[in-house]
Amino acid sequence: MNIARSSPAASPPIAAIATPPGRGGIGVVRVSGADLDALIAGIAGRRLSPRVATRVTFRDAHGGAIDAGLALYFPGPHSYTGEDVVEWHGHGGPVVMRLLVARCIELGARPAEPGEFTKRAFLNGKLDLAQAESVADVIEAATASAVRAAARSLTGEFSREVNALRDALIDLRMYTEATLDFPDEDLDVLREGDVRARLGSIRARLADVLARSRRGCALREGLTVVLVGAPNVGKSSLLNRLVRDDAAIVTSIPGTTRDTIERQVEIAGIPLRIVDTAGLRPTTDPVEALGIARTRAAIQRADLALLMVDARDDDDESVGVGALPDPAPARGSRTSSIEQRIAALAHELPAALPRIIVHNKCDLGGIAPHVESRAGVASAVWLCALTGEGVDALEAEVKRVAGVEHDTEDAFFARARHLAALNDAAEHLRAAAVHADRAAPPIELFAEDLRLAQNAFSAITGEFTADDLLGEIFSRFCIGK
Ligand code: GDP
Repeated sequence: MNIARSSPAASPPIAAIATPPGRGGIGVVRVSGADLDALIAGIAGRRLSPRVATRVTFRDAHGGAIDAGLALYFPGPHSYTGEDVVEWHGHGGPVVMRLLVARCIELGARPAEPGEFTKRAFLNGKLDLAQAESVADVIEAATASAVRAAARSLTGEFSREVNALRDALIDLRMYTEATLDFPDEDLDVLREGDVRARLGSIRARLADVLARSRRGCALREGLTVVLVGAPNVGKSSLLNRLVRDDAAIVTSIPGTTRDTIERQVEIAGIPLRIVDTAGLRPTTDPVEALGIARTRAAIQRADLALLMVDARDDDDESVGVGALPDPAPARGSRTSSIEQRIAALAHELPAALPRIIVHNKCDLGGIAPHVESRAGVASAVWLCALTGEGVDALEAEVKRVAGVEHDTEDAFFARARHLAALNDAAEHLRAAAVHADRAAPPIELFAEDLRLAQNAFSAITGEFTADDLLGEIFSRFCIGK
């Protein structure tokens, strides 16, 4: 749906404290609306020059002083929201700030809803949707890399990339849609022109934006990694190796039946939640059952699984798999092939979940640490958790399999919504390329896939966005933003 961006004149004034709750040197109350002259006169007792800090006494209805501070007035449309905006910079106490907001409400404003200032900025065309979302991301970013990635979206770098893709697609569509209007001439349209080459370059550019967005998404959300392995295979040893430099960031999630179900480590700035599946055993204890349900849920939303086996081919660990149901025929035998052990461990994992087979204790197996990278769903790493040999290679492989092997310096702080839209566009462009390669290209289907890809790009920046999605996005902001 194409949203109608409302005109500034339609918006009643809103007011909110813009600074965090608590006491501080300065507190700011922000007001935005169509015409703030009366409100400004009621509080400051005078007119304010645009964009000049003016020292004023903030007055109540009887002319008494509430506080003294600075006033900043930004007449629309040259303001954050595109409407008239006034900021009252007073002293940062919770009561004085509340009195100031109450005075604004007395003068016709209403309390702002969460994110309403930024929503108005979006509706008035001051920011696109991806930029508006990044305002909250900059505020909430927990690491320096995350701030930089969010700022790239705020300043429009991400939107510019998405718009460039959309524009290239529009060019291509103009060419093909024109052909649709002249069906007699469409026979070789996809072969003439450089339609396929242009589609190829759009897809390559999209692949780059997708990769950068995936990195940003990993930076923002972290990756959930499930660790599966028989008792004694070396899972704890590996966890300790992974957190070697910063044991303080090892955390236990409280409230579970076992002391540790999930640990957090960081690999190259990416937060990893490592979920230990050792507790996946049948139980009648209702509290433990809750923990198991939680573990199963973590497996379902995992990004990656580490399946750990003993590198020695004749190890009898299959006897002890215990943690997971063991469908392997070799259960109970003294020796089982590594392949059977892996199959037993993989039993509870979603089939499409990317995984790395970790062959531990390669010192005992007499095998040198090494990696066998595979393009498909599984790759394998041989290492020695005891000494740490091969753990670096495992980390690199985790990043590669998760699609975040490059550094995060060029990442876009994409939200799941953005990734879904980019993936959607990529899928339509892939389908369009398949149509274009056919002996008799179905030009209507080709054109339709281009159209759907363009819609996906437009959804990111908010050109085509349902109202309920807007409500959902802005309700997560803090009040005053
Ligand atoms: P978990 O039960 O899977 O958590 O296994 P642990 O990490 O507790 O390890 C079980 C035993 O195997 C311990 O005695 C470890 O010292 C030993 N171990 C773990 N990794 C290695 C390894 O790479 N080489 C050797 N030789 N022993 C290991």
